[in-house]
Amino acid sequence: MNEPTMNKKNLPGLYVHIPFCKTKCPYCDFYSITDASLTESWLEGVQKEVLIYSKEGFSAFDTLYIGGGTPSLLDEQGLERLMGILRDGFSFVPDAEATIEMNPDDVTPSLLARYKGFGINRLSLGVQSLQEEELRFLQRRHTAVGAERAVELIKSSGFRNFSIDLMYGFHGQTRKSWADTLNRVLSWEPAHLSCYQLTLSGGTPFGRMATEGRLNRMTEEQERRFFIHTSRFLQENGFVHYEVSNFARGEECVSRHNMKYWQRTPYLGIGPSAHSFRGKERWWNCRSVQDYCCLLLEGKRPVVGRERLSSEQARLEKLLLGFRTKNGVDIDDIVSQSSGREMLAQLTSSGIVSFAGKRVSPTINGYLIADRLPLMFSF
Ligand code: SF4
Repeated sequence: MNEPTMNKKNLPGLYVHIPFCKTKCPYCDFYSITDASLTESWLEGVQKEVLIYSKEGFSAFDTLYIGGGTPSLLDEQGLERLMGILRDGFSFVPDAEATIEMNPDDVTPSLLARYKGFGINRLSLGVQSLQEEELRFLQRRHTAVGAERAVELIKSSGFRNFSIDLMYGFHGQTRKSWADTLNRVLSWEPAHLSCYQLTLSGGTPFGRMATEGRLNRMTEEQERRFFIHTSRFLQENGFVHYEVSNFARGEECVSRHNMKYWQRTPYLGIGPSAHSFRGKERWWNCRSVQDYCCLLLEGKRPVVGRERLSSEQARLEKLLLGFRTKNGVDIDDIVSQSSGREMLAQLTSSGIVSFAGKRVSPTINGYLIADRLPLMFSF
């Protein structure tokens, strides 16, 4: 196999999708269900899926990301089972980055101690806002006080490598309330921040309300101002804006697992709705716990889609992902034709990209149109 994945320098990452949430947030497009009675069947499915891939050359990983859904809903026995299954099937390098997502309401000293015992060394806490009214609007189950308490527990249990998820760009949020949330979050000294702009996906309650005109949204200009303010403010406070929505307190705090997605390093996704990538091929699992369990029980894979990228598709994908990051793209991927060179000159003079050596990177203004940049270099 001469795929770039399996040598030691470039090990794949492992993602595990926990498909359970206590309640559904109206803006969320991730797959999850609120019926936790399927946890046992899901764990059996995970065991079978891990077995399939462990026999296929996916053996060693240098990152683990347990996401969802709400992974912190898994009780200690559930987590112990899951970690046992992963350790039986796969191996992890000694300094592997191991992240788990948590809801502030679930944080307890005993759960944190268990995480440590399992080798989890990075936490991602879904806070979204520290304004009680905004949290009610987003229908989060925690309060701002609850989030503060959760962070105190995280810090007192010795976790320093923790990330906070925040959300901005929804109607009713003001520059003042957002600045207050950011300031208070910075006082916690997180290693990493993810600041997501609210997107209204069609399949979500908020998406439907927006289509029916029952939910106001910010104008593009307001969204642009929030984005620029966030980037400048966090950079002034020592964070590296290393991806459109992600900020790290120094290069060493960058999410190693998520970088694999943007750098097209292979990763394996386990669980319903999980996506995988290996060299030139992508595949993804069904978005149903029931189907996932049934298929695996019948000895079948839960995969419902697969694509093999042509070299031009792979090049465009490399640009699409690369232009989302500070690391940017390789100049050879965009200027093989004279039209590419002209476009690069234009974008550089208008402050959309900058380049150093062979890397072409988006500026803040480039981040704002990151999704459109690759199209400007499609030959
Ligand atoms: S935002 Fe998180 S907690 Fe809310 S429904 Fe989505 S996965 Fe569940």
